[in-house]
Amino acid sequence: MNVKYLLEKMDVLPKKSLGQNFLQDPNALEKIAAAAQIAPSDTVLEIGAGTGALTVKLAQRAAQVIAIEIDDRLLPILHSQLHDFPNVTVHHADILQVNLDALLAERPYLVVANLPYYITSKILRHLFEANNKAQRLILTVQQEVAERLVAKPGEMSILSVSAQFYGKPQIVARLNPAVFYPRPEVASAVVRIDMYRQAPVDIPDEEVFFHVVSAGFGQKRKQLKNSLGSGLDMPHAAAAALLERAGVDPMRRAETLTLEEWATITRLFAAQDARLFVQ
Ligand code: SAM
Repeated sequence: MNVKYLLEKMDVLPKKSLGQNFLQDPNALEKIAAAAQIAPSDTVLEIGAGTGALTVKLAQRAAQVIAIEIDDRLLPILHSQLHDFPNVTVHHADILQVNLDALLAERPYLVVANLPYYITSKILRHLFEANNKAQRLILTVQQEVAERLVAKPGEMSILSVSAQFYGKPQIVARLNPAVFYPRPEVASAVVRIDMYRQAPVDIPDEEVFFHVVSAGFGQKRKQLKNSLGSGLDMPHAAAAALLERAGVDPMRRAETLTLEEWATITRLFAAQDARLFVQ
């Protein structure tokens, strides 16, 4: 299928504002579908079905594909391309408004998507926060985002902490802009995140954990005692004492911490009134 020809025939001009860079290279499509390791009994959720090029590959492998697409101009194309696949249901919706728990009930599922880059972080958050989380995510994202998802201590961000808290991310392929129509201005990569059934670190509460992490990253390039102090509304000396008890040098910066260290700080923060640490 020639994507450019198909869009022109249907009089659809790709919208940059919707992140519309369609995959047109058969090898790239195969690579993504193969990385998902779809079994014949699997349910796959596809976000942003576009012209259906990836949807077809998924439908050939899975028991069921639930495809979400926000742009009504693409629906006639999707319906014609997916005509021979009764195992695909197309939903015209904004993924951020879709209640995944209601849509999937308690079914296990995988997510495979060439994401609209303008809302990558929001979509990740939506997927991570569902009660019934996917077993794994195979996502085409901007290469720079892919690097951030797999970052190691020294280069961590809230995005890497979240991705590595909820699952094990790895880059499985790099994609040249030429595999898309129109070509995006940035390089892309395919990331696979195998989701954990249980948190990989011991924390009393997920909300408190992310409250602490967000506070730590709240002020760029500041020492932890300052960013945590401001973000958690504690005197900076109390934040420094809390960090010392956690075995973390208060002068370190948020990007250097491991998940284990964030968890230790969270446990201490949750267990004690931090003001007690003021000397
Ligand atoms: N899957 C197709 C492919 O690989 O060629 C299209 C991928 S394109 C990068 C992203 C798709 O997501 C577009 O079709 C766009 O219209 C759709 N999209 C953008 N925002 C969306 C949203 N909030 N909810 C659902 N789909 C969205």
